[in-house]
Order: sequence, then structure tokens, then C-alpha cells
Amino acid sequence: MNATQYTQSTGRNAITNLKIAVIGCGYWGVHYTRIFRSLEGSELRAVCEANATRRNELAQRYPGLDIESDLNRLLAREDVDAVVIATEARSHHAIARQALLAGKHVLVEKPLALDSGDCRELGRLAGQLGLTLMVGHTFIFNPGVKLLRTLLESGSVGKLHYLYAQRSNLGPIRNDVSAVWDLAPHDISIFNYLLDSTPSWVSATGGSFLRADREDVAFVAMGYPDGTVAHIHVSWADPEKTRKIVLVGSEGRAAFNDTATTNTVEVVRTGVTARPDESSRQNGSLTFGTGAVEYPEPDKGEPLLLQSMHFLDCIREGARPLTSAEAGTAVVLTLEAIGRSLRAGGEKVPVADPGVDISIHQEPVSAHIPLVDLGAQHRSLANEIEGAMAAVIKRGDYILGEDVQLFEEEFAAYCGVRHAVGVDSGTSAIDLSLRALGIGPGDEVIVPANTFIASVLPITELGATPVLVDVDPTTLNLTRATVERHITDRTRAVLPVHLYGNPAPMLELRSLCDRHGLLLIEDACQAHGAWLAGQRVGSFGDAAAFSFYPAKNLGAYGDGGILVTNNDEVAQAARLLRNYGSKVKYEHLSIGFNRRLDTLQAGILRVKLRHLDKWNDRRRTLAALYNQALAPLPLELPDESATANSVFHLYVVRSRQRNALQDWLAGRGISTGIHYPIPIHLQPAYRTLGYAPGDFPVTEKAAGEILSLPLYPELDRDSCLRVAHELTAFHNNRMREYGHAAAAKSADLGD
Ligand SMILES: *Cc1c(COP(=O)(O)O)cnc(C)c1O
Repeated sequence: MNATQYTQSTGRNAITNLKIAVIGCGYWGVHYTRIFRSLEGSELRAVCEANATRRNELAQRYPGLDIESDLNRLLAREDVDAVVIATEARSHHAIARQALLAGKHVLVEKPLALDSGDCRELGRLAGQLGLTLMVGHTFIFNPGVKLLRTLLESGSVGKLHYLYAQRSNLGPIRNDVSAVWDLAPHDISIFNYLLDSTPSWVSATGGSFLRADREDVAFVAMGYPDGTVAHIHVSWADPEKTRKIVLVGSEGRAAFNDTATTNTVEVVRTGVTARPDESSRQNGSLTFGTGAVEYPEPDKGEPLLLQSMHFLDCIREGARPLTSAEAGTAVVLTLEAIGRSLRAGGEKVPVADPGVDISIHQEPVSAHIPLVDLGAQHRSLANEIEGAMAAVIKRGDYILGEDVQLFEEEFAAYCGVRHAVGVDSGTSAIDLSLRALGIGPGDEVIVPANTFIASVLPITELGATPVLVDVDPTTLNLTRATVERHITDRTRAVLPVHLYGNPAPMLELRSLCDRHGLLLIEDACQAHGAWLAGQRVGSFGDAAAFSFYPAKNLGAYGDGGILVTNNDEVAQAARLLRNYGSKVKYEHLSIGFNRRLDTLQAGILRVKLRHLDKWNDRRRTLAALYNQALAPLPLELPDESATANSVFHLYVVRSRQRNALQDWLAGRGISTGIHYPIPIHLQPAYRTLGYAPGDFPVTEKAAGEILSLPLYPELDRDSCLRVAHELTAFHNNRMREYGHAAAAKSADLGD
């Protein structure tokens, strides 16, 4: 592959300039605009600003600058590799998330987000998508701060005892956050950088003198795991502008005064030490050194410029930024702890470990509740399953053996269809359905944007075109209304997914397909056994696919799948295709594959099929219990009438505080899932389809809000209620503990 192909395929651009856009042109945005207009190795392609007055000012200041007003349009642009987000703090998470999903590298001003759960999600997303995510903790790039670190490392102040910072001025008072959230992130990030560590506890007091609803002055003590203590004083109410950092150690003191015009860094080598013998230390006899005052010169350089250069380097090299998502998360975790301490009257409170993906409110956890528990199901059937496996092993008919044929007959009867063809996965079942029905290059297949990627992979594998469509906001399934306007004269098939086990409206989709002469193929991989209008799913389409992936409602002990159909020719074609295109050994009628269901798996599935209806009933009972227990909370629950026919493969709630909620539950030993965090049209694999963020608003909004709670037939009622109890505790706690930042955020992003 040549260099261009390489950089395209990795997303890392080693040769050409990186194309940058700046989002938000307030104070910092304007500075970034100035810097990226002339920074070597980059090109400023556009700036995005919602405010018309600011746009006019920019246009006058920088004639010819490409100024966008619409964020979705900006993020859809292919000529932008990376964005700098310099908007108000409360929009950082939403915009950064959208930018990552649009495939852009992101530099976001501090704080990374107003909630540590949101910070973690951004870090995870960037990791999953292979993109650079960096936080604008600009002071880390200040040469004065860098010099402090060098001094500390070289032992200039001896052993560090403590450090403190003061950051005060009359305002500027922010509307979106408190003085703590505005000013303290600088000092927390500087301390973390100097100490190469993160605080383990904080204790904070403060006051609201200028405005009643948020602290404008605060005193924060922090402790690091090695015993170092630190103090930060921030104020919007002090007429003297001070920006000072001081380190005090056994051999002296080093200070950085950012408001000084000369001698910004000062070192005084006059320490206090105990005499070497322990007894004099106990007696309090100390030695005072004397030393000169020195003014070492920091390097030159504008911090914002150095930070911008570091961003470009990290993108090019795929390197982890000095101010990584994890560093940004650590700062937000500390701010959250400060908020809790302020509200608890200065109480010393622990700070969560940024490296551990759990809640800061951790308490002794009772038994872990997993999202699914395959072990519990096996234990309930161990004898039967092991008997079935032993029988296969005894017969030795591993390939297309007796149990495969019997299971196919039993599963076809269960679904009320004429044929079932066992294959090696659900993905294969979809693929062979499409092939057996003659779908190929040039054909369009309509499929939801909100599904697991395996619904779509077989379509592109065949050279056909997936036409993604948005979904119904209540069920997240296709409906006649969502499908109809996407039908063209190249449409050959509609592929609805019975998402989370809830049947798509098959009667209206069937009649729509019949009216337009379209094939209907069901992705029933999550809905084994669901009924609709007196018929099982799988019996409505021209073909349907089920998966026996272990965690599905009917799961194998490995991969497996099955295609069902009432069409004799489709069944016959699929039987050939799964078995090298052959019916009689060594005679090959079509170009086939090796995609058979194992006899061992079929033997296991025959045992489990007998329990499926009972298990589905249990899932429905637990879902009803969740619905009842969670009803008082500000959560969107599965709509009772819209899910009346669901077999609840997943129980999915929606919350605007999804990430915080997920962290909270994780901290209490409760596993949850997100199905799915990245919609199909925003997957890196499908950039070639040419979709952009904003194309499917219902799907995209859901991706940020959905959370799957533990649900499996063996889940007991008490565990289910414990999950509900912890969700309730989260909301109570959120109301009580979280500060203005979180409240402002919910208000702002509310709809
Ligand atoms: C599980 C699943 C598939 C794929 O099944 P595999 O057996 O894993 O190949 C396809 N579509 C949906 C909606 C699924 O949930």
C-alpha cells in the first residue's frame, strides 16, 4: 500500500497538513483561530460559531475565513480531520461525543465534561474509534510550570513537603459554572502533573458572596497517596489578580508567579531539616539552612501554541496526550469530590481513582449482579446438556448429524414455518437469506441505523447497498412510516430487526413490502419465540435469521444460527450454500461455503428449546417488575403497550445521565450494557457509506441515553429489586449531592 492509503486507513496523517476546525469562538476560540491559521503542519479549514454577532466580528477580523454556523454541517465535512472545542463547559461532552462519532480527533477545552461518567465515556469512545482526545489543560504547557517540574525532579527543593496555589481576581464571573469549576481545574491539573499522581482525598470550604447560587470563593485542601498535601485558593471576589504556585520542600522553596513580568520563577534554597539523629528530631531541635535566591529562566513559548503543537504531534504519532482523557477525568473526579465536601461543610471526602471504571460513591458491595449469567443457566440444566453432548460424542456424527436434522425440524415447528436450516451464526443466517433470495450488487436493502452491525455486514458483503433509516422513537424499531419514504426503484428488500426482543410491526411492514413488490427478511436474532398477531416472529418474512450466540434468549455453547423460511427454494438454496454448494458428496451445484451448525450445538439447543417459552415468560415477568419499581424515577422505561409482545432479550431504559448512572451501578457491583453506543452510520467501518452525524436524530439521541439493565431468566426477584433500589439511590443522591454544574447541565440539555 502506498503512503496515502496508509494514512487513510489508519486515520493518522504523517505527510499532509492536518485540517483543523475550531468550534466556539469566544475568548479561547479566537486564540485558537489565530494559532491554527499559521501553525505549521496544519490548516485551519473552518470555524463554527452559533452566534451571528461573533460570526460578523470574525469575518471582519479574518477575511476569507470559512465560518460555519451549523455544527452538524461542520462535523459532516470530509476536509476536517480534527476539531478544537472551545464552547461553554456544559456543551463539551455532547459536542466532543458528536465529533468523535464523526471521526474527528478532538481537543476540548477544560473541563473535559461536567460529569466524570461523561468523561469516561469520551475516553472510551476515543479509544474504540482510534482517535486522539486531548483536554486543554493549557497550564501544563506553560514553560514556568514545566520549569517547576524540572526543579522538583532535580531535587532543588529537596523532599517536597507540600504545595499550594492561589488564583484570584475580580471575576470574570462565568454563567455556566462556579469559581471552583472555572479556576480550580488549572491548579488540580498542574499539581497532578508536578506530582505525577492524582489526589486521594479533598476537603473544601467556600462561600457565595457575589451570587447566591454558586461558590465564588473556595479553599481546597487535597491529599495525594504518597502523603503530599496541597492547597488551592480560588476567588472571583479578590481585587488583586494573583496566579501563583508554590512548592515547599526540605531544601527550599520554588514558586511560579504567572502575573509577574520578570523573574516569574523564584527558588529560595533555605530549608528546615531535622538533624540526622532521631532523638533531636523528637526534641524539636531543627537545623535551618541559609541560601541565596535564584531566578532560573523558563523556556520561551506561548502555552496555547505549545499545546496546539502537542495536539498535532499526538494525532500524527497516535501518542497519548500529556493531557489525556484520563488526566481530564481525574480533574473532574476531584471537582466532584470538592463539590461533595463543600456541601458536607468541609468534610474530608475520598476522590475516586480515575483508572478504575467505577463509581466514586463506592460502598461495600453485596454480590455482583451480571448483565447476563450463562453459568446459572447451565447449572439448571447441567445433566441434560451433558447427556446430550455425550450422546453426540458417542455417535461421532459431528457434521450435519442426527441432532442437526431433529433440531431443524423442531425449531421450524416451533416458529410455525416449513423449513429451518442450521448455520454457524446469526450473521451467516442473514447472509444466506439474502443470497438465497437473490440479493446482489446494485440492490438496495432498507435496514435500521440502530442495530447491531451484523444486520448490515452481509448486505455490504454481497455488494448490495444498505439504505439506513431512522427508527421509531418509542420502540427503536422500523415502522411503515420510517421505511416508506426510502423506497426507490432499486429497493429489493426490507430487513427489520426485532430489537431487544420486541417484534417490529410485521403486519404493516408485510403489507408495505407486498404493495411495492419487496422482499421482507427478518433479523430475529434477538427475538426467539416472540409472538405477534398469533404468529411467531420468523414466520412473517420471506426468510428470517436467528442467532444462537451464547447470550441470546436461546444460546448455544459457542456460535450458531438458523435460517427459517416458508419458501422451498430459499430453503434448498441455503442448504446448498452452507455446505460447499453440495447435496451429494463431491458434487457441487453452487459456489458455497462451510457454514454449518455443529451437531454438538444442535444437541444442546434441542435441550434448551424445550425451556425457551418458560424462560421468555420469566424475562417478561422481570421486565414488568422493573417497570413497576422504576416508575417513580426520571427514567424513560420500555413502553408497556409498545413492548406487549417483547421477549425482552434486553431491558433497556433511557436517561440523560446515562454515563453517571452506569458508573454508579458499576460501583455497586451491577453490570449494565449499551446496545449500541455507536450507530451503524457513524461506525468507522462504514464511513464509506457517506453518512454524517445528524442524519438519524432518533438513533443518535438514543445511543447517548440507552442503558441495558441485568436481565436473564435466572435473575431472582431480590436482585432485580436491588438494581431498582440502586437506581433510586442514584437519583436521590444526585438531587442532594451534585452541585450547580450538574443541575445547570440537565437544565441546558433538557428537551
Ligand atoms: C446477535 C445478532 C446478530 C448476529 O448474530 P451472530 O450469531 O453473533 O452472528 C445479528 N443481528 C442482531 C440484531 C443480533 O443481535
